[in-house]
Amino acid sequence: MSKLIYLDNAATTSLDPEVLEAMIPWLRSGYGNPSSIYSIGRDAKKAIEDARLKVAEAIGSKVNEIYFTGSGSEADNWAIKGIAEANSDKGRHLVTTNIEHHAVLHVYEYLEKRGFEVTYVAVEKNGIVDVDKIMNAVREDTILVSVMMANNEIGTIQPIAEIGERLAGHKAVFHTDAVQAIGNIPVDVRALRVDMLSLSAHKFHGPKGVGVLFIKRGVKIENLMHGGGQERTRRASTENTAGIVGLGVAIKKAVDNLPENAAKMQKIRDEIIGRVLNEVPFAILNGDRVRRLPGNANFAFRFIEGEGLLLFLDMYGIMASSGSACTSGSLDPSHVLLALGLEHEIAHGSLRLSIGTENDFSDIDYVVESIKTIVQRLREMSPLYDKYLKNKITED
Ligand SMILES: *Cc1c(COP(=O)(O)O)cnc(C)c1O
Repeated sequence: MSKLIYLDNAATTSLDPEVLEAMIPWLRSGYGNPSSIYSIGRDAKKAIEDARLKVAEAIGSKVNEIYFTGSGSEADNWAIKGIAEANSDKGRHLVTTNIEHHAVLHVYEYLEKRGFEVTYVAVEKNGIVDVDKIMNAVREDTILVSVMMANNEIGTIQPIAEIGERLAGHKAVFHTDAVQAIGNIPVDVRALRVDMLSLSAHKFHGPKGVGVLFIKRGVKIENLMHGGGQERTRRASTENTAGIVGLGVAIKKAVDNLPENAAKMQKIRDEIIGRVLNEVPFAILNGDRVRRLPGNANFAFRFIEGEGLLLFLDMYGIMASSGSACTSGSLDPSHVLLALGLEHEIAHGSLRLSIGTENDFSDIDYVVESIKTIVQRLREMSPLYDKYLKNKITED
């Protein structure tokens, strides 16, 4: 095995060498506590504020609407718990979709146990939510609506701006998890009319363990972290200076280079999708064909297990992901694939390829040929496929 092809950019991305270079000084001599008054502390503070400005410019917000967090999951947790707690006097009803990331869905489940009522709006078969269904779910006592901008498994892009517009007159706060969107599609908080937005550095070639929650001025939200007065008293913790600096450099690069990157990823994606659907029998594409992230291809292959496919792909040097939650110790297929109406058996045979900026057109042929070979081999060993063939013969 000579090649190594990374196609799991929705799980995480490589750290951009330029980002790493920008971070190193803050791990070496720039270790001062940003709250201190001596120079190395003040320098760190300045570097953090510079990164904050970069984030604000990247998503079209004001600088003082940007709050650094420890991850995308923390930003989602804070947004949802913080709004629920600060606004429960106005209502205890929350709205979301059935394909959100677990960092959103599990927080909603947590709140249900604490007396909040949640409406999970089901997406359509193409993995996109109907704006009217969201609006029909919103009530007088709804205090929060959270809809992800782009799905991490099937890549579908939700109509956030339309929902934002329709919600404009309502008191409910509108949050979007834009973790998968940054660097892949344009994100502008004013154009989207969102009140809160989550993002995470490691999904756009920044470091792991640092994220952002955008909170529009005037939104009433409780803290998640209590302690020191960092982040204008809203998020205690001594700042992760190096991580924040890295996030700033990474988001600027991701947004500046978005048009070229997205165009290249989309070309690779379309070529892979076209070839797989053409050349692999019984293959389907999960999620809308057009309204999806430029780097996302998610397939289901009948008669095989996604886990087996992943293991063989790894032997071929291809790193990808399956749509089932087996890695997390559960044998259930992913809630996202089931939400599309896929049968369990078919959802089990799914494969997510998430293309990134570093992939190249020259990878395509090897990837498609490998998938073809492996799927065929797995089917030859599959009792389901055997049964299908036997039934087919008797039918004929
Ligand atoms: C990765 C991801 C998260 C979690 O972000 P972390 O920084 O890894 O905690 C949340 N939402 C979506 C859509 C993601 O893809």
